[in-house]
Amino acid sequence: MPRGPDPLNKIITLFVCLVGLTACGQDSKTDAISENIQNLQAQALQSDLAYSLLHALTTEVGPRMAGSDGDRRAVQWSRTIMESLGFDKVWVEPVTFPVWRRGEESASLITSYSLPLAVTALGGSPGTEGQLRGEIVRFDNFQALVDAEASQVQGKIVFINERMEKSQAGGNYSKVVQGRHNGPYVAAERGALALVIRSVGTDDNRLAHTGMIARPEGRTAVPSAAISNPDADLLESVIRSGKPVELELNLDCGFDGAATSFNVIGEVSGSDPDAGFFALGAHLDSWDLGTGAIDDGAGVVIIMAAAKLIADMPQRSHRGLRVILFANEEQNVYGGREYARAHANEIALHFAGAESDFGSGRVLGLVASVNDDARPAIEKLARQLAPLGISYDASKSAYGGADLGQMRKLGMPAIDLRQDGSQYFDNHHTANDTLDKVDPDDLKQNVAAWVTLAWFMAESQQALGPLESAK
Ligand code: ZN
Ligand code: ZN
Repeated sequence: MPRGPDPLNKIITLFVCLVGLTACGQDSKTDAISENIQNLQAQALQSDLAYSLLHALTTEVGPRMAGSDGDRRAVQWSRTIMESLGFDKVWVEPVTFPVWRRGEESASLITSYSLPLAVTALGGSPGTEGQLRGEIVRFDNFQALVDAEASQVQGKIVFINERMEKSQAGGNYSKVVQGRHNGPYVAAERGALALVIRSVGTDDNRLAHTGMIARPEGRTAVPSAAISNPDADLLESVIRSGKPVELELNLDCGFDGAATSFNVIGEVSGSDPDAGFFALGAHLDSWDLGTGAIDDGAGVVIIMAAAKLIADMPQRSHRGLRVILFANEEQNVYGGREYARAHANEIALHFAGAESDFGSGRVLGLVASVNDDARPAIEKLARQLAPLGISYDASKSAYGGADLGQMRKLGMPAIDLRQDGSQYFDNHHTANDTLDKVDPDDLKQNVAAWVTLAWFMAESQQALGPLESAK
């Protein structure tokens, strides 16, 4: 139970008030914020709402790859849920993008024997148009492929064999993912037949991790796929033994027309419409292989549940909350980019923003991109988050997530709640991204952290911006 001030404290506070009226007004405001936050945290740590929403999303909607039937169901589902949770206003904004479809996919290692490998096409990859067979040329990492001569690669299947390291902060994902993003184009420019990468993941099971290729303007990709970590180990050891080794690859996938999906937006109003709102983001789409429980079902339900707790408060917060469930983040941040385009002239209404898109691991850290005058306010926020095991790192800046990061680039102040990512890349973008990977208590801790952040931002009297726009 949250503790109220005892009578002696009240008398002392009254005395201090009489001595210095202005300072006291600020203090009692701060006390009210922290009392409400303690209450909201206690409710969040008790509530099963986020988990039951995630259960519903993964069982009633399921996989929701951009442009699929699941995507359409997800838009309808989240709209209905936000209305039923008592948001004051719910609407959708259209987002149009090319549709990529996955069909049958297979790969086999051909050496003194033939063995089917666990493989999945990378999002955005062209198909092989039937069976493709070729000699393998192996590289330690993406840079080694960049440095290679075309004569080494011509007519072969490129294999990038870089393993992702596991760590609490998410490891070396941004380095290793270069092979997935840009490998398909460099391989094409060197005359390769196809590209196969070791999955960008930290597990040891035979499931491959999908994910998007970069799609730079005017460049062509070869058919590209990921194989599981154990299969990459096998391929590596056969290559090292010096035996002849080939790969047979069959990917039936590619782009097929365009589709329109929607950013689904819900607001909980504040008492002062001129005070703008705090933006909470997550992405509604997922990959097709699992049910998108961790990426990004968790983020969707965490921010919805946090906003619901605030909608149920007996009094309105000073400013409102805007919950934005972005369309098609996975295939190049279409929803986030469209939102930033459509709302570029409303930056001033976005008091600040934050995005939840790192699964359901506990929140461990707070970082902020705010102006220097606002640092003491962020320190106050940090004190409210500390009981949840969250520490503030003033030396780092926030990126705002893939989607709201687009608004951050336009000058919106941003907050990141950094999560424990040690398990995240075991299941990320695989068939293993399912509800059983989500710990209900961790999910509750996330909601408690988000409701703290949201209430603090909704009540803050201290402006956090403006920030300079960044590229
Ligand atoms: Zn995501
Ligand atoms: Zn993802």
